[in-house]
Amino acid sequence: MLAVEFEMFSFVELIFLIWVLIVVGVPVGLLVLILKLRSIAKKQMLESKKCQFCSEMIKREAVVCRFCGHEQKAEDLA
Ligand SMILES: [Zn+2]
Repeated sequence: MLAVEFEMFSFVELIFLIWVLIVVGVPVGLLVLILKLRSIAKKQMLESKKCQFCSEMIKREAVVCRFCGHEQKAEDLA
């Protein structure tokens, strides 16, 4: 009887632990995902620049715009 009660408590505890993991884990996972996506976006922003002629985002090292074919200023290279 006591063993059954202990097992029942253990089962409820297990369900509670899984519930806590889901409740805590999902927002934390989403937060980590958002921060990771933001850091990737920031990195892409740092690695790219806007073409002065067509306003498309191109790589900072680009010599010629891949959208309009205009030559980029050498001074933009950092
Ligand atoms: Zn362009």
